[in-house]
Amino acid sequence: MYFGPGIEADIKSEFWHGDIWQESPLFGQSSIQINQDKGTRIGRIIAIVSTPNGTKLKIQLLYYGTELPGNFTSSLRIKRAQNGELWLSEISVLIDLQNVIGPVDVWLRDTPKLSDNYQFCIREILYSHEALGVVTADLPQGNDLASTKRHGGNKGCRSCLVPKEQLTDSSFDIKLNARYHHITDEKIEELNTLVQESASQKTISKYCTKHGLRKHPSILDQLTWNRHLQVPQDAYHAVAGKIQRLMECTFSILKPDGEVAFINYWKNLETPAGWYKLPNPIKHRNSFMFSDCLRLAMIMPFLLQRSLKALHIKDLELTSLQKRLVDSTKSRPKMPSPIQIVNAIISCWVTIAKLFSDNFENLPNLHINKHHVQNARNFGTLVNTAVAVKEMMHKIFKGSVPKMNQKNIELDLIRHHNTLQTIRYLTDGGVDNRFPCIKQGFQKLTIDPLLHSILSDWYMTQIIQKEDITDISNTNVVSCDSRVTNIKLYKKLSKIEIQQYNLPVRLDENSQFAHDILIAYDIYMQKKAALIYRRVEFYNQIKYTLLDDDGRFNSHLNLHVGDIVQIQEEENLSYAKIRALFTHKYNNGLVYAFIWINWLRKTSTTDPIIQCPIYEVQTAENTRWYRVYPISLIDNLPKVHFVHCCCSTCTANSHDLSNNHYFKNEFYYVEI
Ligand SMILES: [Zn+2]
Ligand SMILES: [Zn+2]
Ligand SMILES: [Zn+2]
Repeated sequence: MYFGPGIEADIKSEFWHGDIWQESPLFGQSSIQINQDKGTRIGRIIAIVSTPNGTKLKIQLLYYGTELPGNFTSSLRIKRAQNGELWLSEISVLIDLQNVIGPVDVWLRDTPKLSDNYQFCIREILYSHEALGVVTADLPQGNDLASTKRHGGNKGCRSCLVPKEQLTDSSFDIKLNARYHHITDEKIEELNTLVQESASQKTISKYCTKHGLRKHPSILDQLTWNRHLQVPQDAYHAVAGKIQRLMECTFSILKPDGEVAFINYWKNLETPAGWYKLPNPIKHRNSFMFSDCLRLAMIMPFLLQRSLKALHIKDLELTSLQKRLVDSTKSRPKMPSPIQIVNAIISCWVTIAKLFSDNFENLPNLHINKHHVQNARNFGTLVNTAVAVKEMMHKIFKGSVPKMNQKNIELDLIRHHNTLQTIRYLTDGGVDNRFPCIKQGFQKLTIDPLLHSILSDWYMTQIIQKEDITDISNTNVVSCDSRVTNIKLYKKLSKIEIQQYNLPVRLDENSQFAHDILIAYDIYMQKKAALIYRRVEFYNQIKYTLLDDDGRFNSHLNLHVGDIVQIQEEENLSYAKIRALFTHKYNNGLVYAFIWINWLRKTSTTDPIIQCPIYEVQTAENTRWYRVYPISLIDNLPKVHFVHCCCSTCTANSHDLSNNHYFKNEFYYVEI
């Protein structure tokens, strides 16, 4: 391909420029080796330019593995560099024609291979980051950064000029009243002039109020950025903030015995697998972490349904709620009964609806809902814009400095953070030439299934309970499925308990249970033989580690008798309640662990207030389904939460299981 020389001059910087790199026909053949004072290097011609000093080549430099910045050198990359990998950079230089040594073959791995005898290849590009991406901050701080008034003040929205009274007015035209970076620039310019001319504080304040500006411009204004677009409202805080307000509304109307009842049920609720204990929501509601708020919201409807009675609500509050909820659509307006009020509060938590409308009106928190749409358009996902991850970091940092007095906290935190980052760097395979002795040992640690989850994450997502060794009853168990390892059974059932739960001790010929085990061996473990050993042992709890198909750590499972688990059967996702966990010694002398389940069936009923579907535990007589399986059947963490449909015979800490109905918690989801 022929092209004439481009021109690179001081005044005009236009020059012929390669097409975007993937498509450039220059690529491949036209990578050249260059002779420079620091040795030969490789580059890609992007233009031929004429300068006052003659014709030159504009070269995009390729980096050798040894030239990578420190934070990119890992043992993996070093190995790849030895096999001829280069890195494309954004840096371009002008070189003299006589410095060209000759063409080299470089294969960009995203493009079709030009020939098999390429000398080098490229799979990664080194970008230099010099621009600001996006800033996420809580409500007040975000406004500070955007140089706008805080959200309590008039015109306190960082994205538009909404007056305080119209925060939740849906007819307010956001586009017409939006803030624009260049216009705010002019206003800030004017503000600066006022300050320089030593205008009175009153004049300055008046000016700031008029335009909803902060008196001191943001420190980020020194950067090239757009203050209104690049500080999006945080969706995470927006949701959790509303829950916090509703918590306040709900708990503040309770009498002391209402609080006691609530806490009693809250302590005993069957919480989803993997949850750590939440702090007391009544005493500590003001210091609730947002992630805790989200979790509380998932179980609140059930807690209130179990604990809240009309007599728990302060009399004054009850009457005022009754008055507020009078149904005025009927010809003879009727006050709702106390029971209806209780249901209304529960429904409110179910829908987080309008019961406490006085408190919800004109909240900045509700106004920012309108801006979420635009933020979604600008940023797509919440991965980088939500502060959830930062909140978790905050929590970890807080936890690392438990006692604050007489300490240099900054130093402690920096040290702590440095350690975390170093560990992370090393586990990612990072290499530092100054410490040659670290080598591979550290990486090997990460293969350990227990350490893996700690070392490969930014933070721990699930509490890893301290193991109570005294409770371990059996560690001698194996699985037919190589993905299941590290099996431990806990709390072996006593003879009395076995009788109490109506469980068999031995496999009697012709019993349904013996038949079920035979089928489990046959279908799921490919073992088809009459069983020699007739004894089974029952346990209350089982823990095991699950690996992926390629042997990497997947998750730790921890199942108890009575837990409800999900089971993927071909296309369908089914639910089942664990009736028993037991071990059996097979003819080959190995002990296998089994799970005995009762299937759940969805009834046609949905609770009108809780709005969750009701499931029914299948009776033991129903043998349409298999009921005994090897534990490898449960190969993922339960992502469902079921709550007992309590009846009058249930108490806070013991459930009448003759009632076999359960709510499927429709509000439950697994957060990050
Ligand atoms: Zn926060
Ligand atoms: Zn706004
Ligand atoms: Zn119950």
